[in-house]
Amino acid sequence: MSVLGEVGCMHPVLRRAISVIFRSSIYSEEIRLMEYYKIFAIEYERRQALSTEIFLRSMDPEPMFMSYYIWAIVGANTAVIVDTGYTKETALSRGRKQQRCPGEGLKLIGIQPDEVEQVIITHFHWDHLGNRALFPRATFYAQEKEMAFWTGRYASVPIFREVIEPDDIVGMVRLNLSGHLTLIDGSRELFPGISVHWVGGHTPGMQIVEVATAGGTAVIASDAVKTYRNLTENIPDPYVNDISEMIDGYELVRNLAENESLVFPGHDPEVFNRFGSPAEGIVGLLQG
Ligand SMILES: [Zn+2]
Repeated sequence: MSVLGEVGCMHPVLRRAISVIFRSSIYSEEIRLMEYYKIFAIEYERRQALSTEIFLRSMDPEPMFMSYYIWAIVGANTAVIVDTGYTKETALSRGRKQQRCPGEGLKLIGIQPDEVEQVIITHFHWDHLGNRALFPRATFYAQEKEMAFWTGRYASVPIFREVIEPDDIVGMVRLNLSGHLTLIDGSRELFPGISVHWVGGHTPGMQIVEVATAGGTAVIASDAVKTYRNLTENIPDPYVNDISEMIDGYELVRNLAENESLVFPGHDPEVFNRFGSPAEGIVGLLQG
């Protein structure tokens, strides 16, 4: 705008020529930087839960299913993994199951976990942060606020302590000290077409992932949006650190995503009705 403004007094033909050059240089820049990604939601467990686990102040507990996912963002030459799920050992210790190791799910879509170089962690809850050992080559990305909280004075308070595994938190500290963790403060474009945004709410350092896809901007919301109903009806989830941040997070997800069907919630089996399925237990935006 300012460049075209400066040539406003020039001859119209010259002005038009400069305008074309200017626009085409922007256009080629966009082509060079823009990559469209596929997104896969890889379910590693599904269990019968109650609506009171999903909707804050739900007075009438109704049975409903919760799915557990990791996600893969796949470009022409890259695969970025979002969250790492829980381990079989942690599942057993908490009386849970694990249908399939998240790493096995990745192999079904052609990703070898030990070759993955980038892993985004949305937050440090136990069901999102195990299995780091599957990714020995990876650099991990998380919010600085999340690390500060879980190594800070509130972490041992039972209501917080029960939703993390100490070994996971220590593991993140080790990754940081060995130079394999990048801590982010707020929003950052990590790779062309892949950005993270702090939203807080569910945890103090919860972040979401914005992804450029052929169908428009998609958002891997993880637990910033537990299910589509939380988003459409603006109902907070009971696992909440700050309710107003959670509501603002819903707003940001709605603003970023091209439409609600390009949102990947943290625990909603409904994604299996909205996206294509390349393999059992896996759904996604399959057009790259
Ligand atoms: Zn979760």
